[in-house]
Amino acid sequence: NPFLFCSHQYELLKHAEATLGSGNLRQAVMLPEGEDLNEWIAVNTVDFFNQINMLYGTITEFCTEASCPVMSAGPRYEYHWADGTNIKKPIKCSAPKYIDYLMTWVQDQLDDETLFPSKIGVPFPKNFMSVAKTILKRLFRVYAHIYHQHFDSVMQLQEEAHLNTSFKHFIFFVQEFNLIDRRELAPLQELIEKLGSKDR
Ligand SMILES: [Zn+2]
Repeated sequence: NPFLFCSHQYELLKHAEATLGSGNLRQAVMLPEGEDLNEWIAVNTVDFFNQINMLYGTITEFCTEASCPVMSAGPRYEYHWADGTNIKKPIKCSAPKYIDYLMTWVQDQLDDETLFPSKIGVPFPKNFMSVAKTILKRLFRVYAHIYHQHFDSVMQLQEEAHLNTSFKHFIFFVQEFNLIDRRELAPLQELIEKLGSKDR
């Protein structure tokens, strides 16, 4: 974990991991009593970033310029990269390139002390929630690409349980706090419905 948490944030992360093991994921994603919503979202966002980094890391050799010349999530969804500051006009690029841009951009946000304060008592900025929403919206696309284009490799590596657990946790979390627009989730809508039906 490249991110240094203050001890309270570390405790929150431990709390999240402990409640995840309880088996009730809907409950595990809820804001723990007395905790700060921004901090809870920050800690979990960092955790999802690390999980996705690890999951994508297991299939990078299969995600190449040749196999994935465009960043897609099935035949109906294609993404062009723009970060809104350095790159304003969306660039059409390969999936590995897109994901590299995306993960580097997320890492830069997480490393920014003004956005993700790691010290006790330093407040989160007013725009924190909108930044977190953008990060999660973009991270979702990496799951969508892995599911649509690389699920066979994930199966070969016997990583599907790991991927499904991570994605389910991610989806329950964003649903709990309404963090990603429904339209953005469309590439994995069927899977999301399937995950939800078992626990409701
Ligand atoms: Zn790919």
